[in-house]
Amino acid sequence: MSAMEYVGFRILRLLRKLPINILGIGNRKVIFADFFKNFDKVEAVKGIFGDKTSDVLSHLTVEFSWIMGYMYVDGSDGHLVISKNYLNNGDKTDIYLDLIHELCHVKQFMEGKELFDPRYDYVERPTEIEAYRYCVQEAKRLGLSNERIRCYLWTEWMSENDFKKLAKSVNVLSA
Ligand SMILES: [Zn+2]
Repeated sequence: MSAMEYVGFRILRLLRKLPINILGIGNRKVIFADFFKNFDKVEAVKGIFGDKTSDVLSHLTVEFSWIMGYMYVDGSDGHLVISKNYLNNGDKTDIYLDLIHELCHVKQFMEGKELFDPRYDYVERPTEIEAYRYCVQEAKRLGLSNERIRCYLWTEWMSENDFKKLAKSVNVLSA
């Protein structure tokens, strides 16, 4: 099995218990640990919450929504909002890395940090840099190439200049 196949295999195992058609679920809330099984055993997640991992994941609320886009942490109460369309159709590796990224924001929220501090642009906000650095570290550990990580980082609403700033901050500008 090649390194990339192995990455895909591990992530698919983690995400395999997702309902086949998430679109069938109404706009409702579930508990993270009930839906995303075994994330409490993922080293990258334990690296965020330490001994509180199981406790946090069994209290974290996830809302499946018809929002456009991907996923985010609600700044009012710290729950995770996930686009149903993204979860159903998105690339599994991207979804996995996004979950790691958002769980960093959950921790930041628990620490009382302002997640959407308007004094900073998105790609320069300290909470974003921290979350991106952490999920990129996980992507590298899984064996993803810098090119693949750059594909992951690029989003349609980011300018080329912002994208370069972000890629530089997480050290994936070079091949
Ligand atoms: Zn973020």
